[in-house]
Amino acid sequence: MKTFKSIAKAAAVQVVARAAPPAWRWRKPRSLVILMYHRVLPVNSPARLAEQPGMYVSPETFDLHLTEIKRYFELVDLAEWLRRSRRGESLPPLACAITFDDGWRDNHDYALPLMTKHRVPATIFLVSGYVGTAYQFWPNRLMSLLRTAFDHPDAVAFPRPLRTILDPVLSAASARGQLRAEDADLAVQRAKTLDEPTIRGLIDATAVAKDQPSGARDLLDREEIGRMAATGLVRFGSHTATHFRLAGEISPADLEREIVESRGTLQALTGQDIDLFCYPNGDTSATAIDCVRRHYLGAVTTHAGWVEGNSDPHLLPRIGVHDDATRTREGFLATLSSWI
Ligand SMILES: [Zn+2]
Repeated sequence: MKTFKSIAKAAAVQVVARAAPPAWRWRKPRSLVILMYHRVLPVNSPARLAEQPGMYVSPETFDLHLTEIKRYFELVDLAEWLRRSRRGESLPPLACAITFDDGWRDNHDYALPLMTKHRVPATIFLVSGYVGTAYQFWPNRLMSLLRTAFDHPDAVAFPRPLRTILDPVLSAASARGQLRAEDADLAVQRAKTLDEPTIRGLIDATAVAKDQPSGARDLLDREEIGRMAATGLVRFGSHTATHFRLAGEISPADLEREIVESRGTLQALTGQDIDLFCYPNGDTSATAIDCVRRHYLGAVTTHAGWVEGNSDPHLLPRIGVHDDATRTREGFLATLSSWI
């Protein structure tokens, strides 16, 4: 049954979708909206089962987005926009830049054909240490384990701190008879309260008496990167060397490897200048920002909003887009507005 809240939200989306585009014309000139995508997965893709709903759009949704953006915005290359802005050169009144985080193989398989069809540029942030590998990010590993634990309760033994986080999620799912995407999403959010080495160590220490999905390669390799670069539409940026969350105290060695060396590795790998950086999980700290400032032209965060004249080029906000909220034209325009 639809709640009053969901009906009110749907009505607000309709109103905002109608009111926002005319209002965009009256924004300060030189406004830029940066869209944040991760994966592009077809509706029937098995990869969706081990993925958070906030991580993907379908190819059809992405096609709809590109069609709509072109009606209102000039699509720009983010590094080029920042360079022009820094030099005080003229900029389009309303610009939009597309970004993809993590360097997923599906960006090549499903996003690239649509970017080529629409002649749209994009920046893809690669994790330099994982290019061409079958590396699985811990949220995907955790979600696969959760699914196995739901289907075969005796087959998975989580270490205690993980059990504390996952047991309430699994009990609620068992009572319902179904493990929903939202349950897995909640488990990942709770696990993020642990620091990176701890959560990875706990997942490594989980005993599983069932075969886990095989180690297929989900991330881009050198050949796919080369094909994307050859279109002239795709520019690459750094998303660190190991998807390292840059919060809190960070040692000089970690800063060097994750921020400085990842840039050199990616320049050699892509043959492009690596001018842009993306903070994993949106986590930042004063020392990390300072290091990024010294080595990159600009950097993007996960803070929601539009880039305005006074935005810090090394802490750029973005608008996250995924299927849940943006698979209709109205939902996409309302999300773009960042009003609701
Ligand atoms: Zn990421």
